[in-house]
Amino acid sequence: MYKQGDTCPICGSGPLKATKNKEDLEYKGHILSLELTSYSCDVCHESFFDNEEMKANQKTVKDFHRSVDGLLTSDEIKKIRQKYGLSQREFARILGVGEKSFTKYELGLVGQSRGMDNLLRIIDEIPESLTLLKRRMVAKEKDRERIVTTIIDIGNYKFERKKSSYRLEGTKSTENTSNEYQAA
Ligand SMILES: [Zn+2]
Repeated sequence: MYKQGDTCPICGSGPLKATKNKEDLEYKGHILSLELTSYSCDVCHESFFDNEEMKANQKTVKDFHRSVDGLLTSDEIKKIRQKYGLSQREFARILGVGEKSFTKYELGLVGQSRGMDNLLRIIDEIPESLTLLKRRMVAKEKDRERIVTTIIDIGNYKFERKKSSYRLEGTKSTENTSNEYQAA
C-alpha cells in the first residue's frame, strides 16, 4: 500500500500526493459510501489507485451486493466454516463444490448461488445437517471404491476368459463345439 510522500513508482523521483475521494455506489436503491485514495505525482503528472486497496474495495462492493440480496457475506461464510473447525478443502468436499469455488466465496471474488446460501444457513443453524452430509460423503466415497473394485474384477474375469479360450483354441474343435452347445 502506498502513502503520502512515498516516491512515485512511475518516474521514481516525485513524492506521491494522496487524495481521498468519497464515492457513493448505488445498488437496488441502497447506497454504499466508499473512500477511494488516488495517488498523484507532480513530476510526471501521473495518477493511479493502489492495487491492494482496489482489491479490498472489490470485496467490500461484492459483500454490499450480497447483503442487499439477502445472501451471506464472505466473512459470514468463513465464520460458519470456522465454527465447525473445518479447512476450506474439507468444507468444500462436504458441500459438494470445488475447493477453488469455495475459496472464492470467502475471498469475496464470486457470489454463492441462492441454493448454496440456503445450504450454508441450514448448516449454520443445525449442526446435525453437517453430520448428515459428512456421513453421505463418506458413503459416496466408499461406493466409488466399490465401483472401482468391480471394474477391476470384471477386467480380471475377461482376462481369465481370454486365457481359457486360448486354451480351448488349442484343443480339438469338437470339444469346443460341444462346449458352445451346452452353453446355449
Ligand atoms: Zn512521477
